[in-house]
Amino acid sequence: MEKRFIDVTLPIDKGMPIWPDSTGINFSWTHCLNKGGMVNLTRLDMDVHAGTHVEGPLHYYANAISVDEIPLEIFLGRALVVDLPAVDKITANDLEKLSLPKGIKRLLFRTKNSELWKDFKQSFYEDFVGLSSSAAQWVVDKKIKLIGIDYLSVANFKQGRSVHKILLNGGVVVLEGLNLLMAPAGEYEIICLPVKLIGREASPARVILKKL
Ligand SMILES: [Zn+2]
Repeated sequence: MEKRFIDVTLPIDKGMPIWPDSTGINFSWTHCLNKGGMVNLTRLDMDVHAGTHVEGPLHYYANAISVDEIPLEIFLGRALVVDLPAVDKITANDLEKLSLPKGIKRLLFRTKNSELWKDFKQSFYEDFVGLSSSAAQWVVDKKIKLIGIDYLSVANFKQGRSVHKILLNGGVVVLEGLNLLMAPAGEYEIICLPVKLIGREASPARVILKKL
């Protein structure tokens, strides 16, 4: 049977790459059958920016809406995956050259970052591809509502502040930590469901692409 759904979510597990100053991920058993417990019960302690996650304006703006207040419609619907395999930093010029059809609301960037996900257990990679400020402004100007990228930040390492501020102030929701290795360029339906954390700036999400 042909697979219609592509899971572009990173597996959450110890040993996955995490941001250098991140508290990362820790699972532990609070009850364990193998140790005489009545059940198995896990405690999860994680940085909500580890793995695949959605972030909204509260990440950079103190009185902005939280991730649970972002309309669900933004996370569900048509999405375009674009291939940018040769760039180290995505610029407005790179995006202009794609000659995208008008009216795109959700745009996912598939870069050489996705190659890194051939191995989920690896150390953090500093030289990942991200958007420049000009690309962020381009996205805002095109009235795109959701963008996704295939590494842990939408901007290159140590260049996150201005890029995030442009996007989040411009009404763009950011989806980070996608694995687009198995999702070639083209049109999909995206199903992205962030965990309903109340009052937070970001939330882990399961993200599926359905071939159209
Ligand atoms: Zn983040």
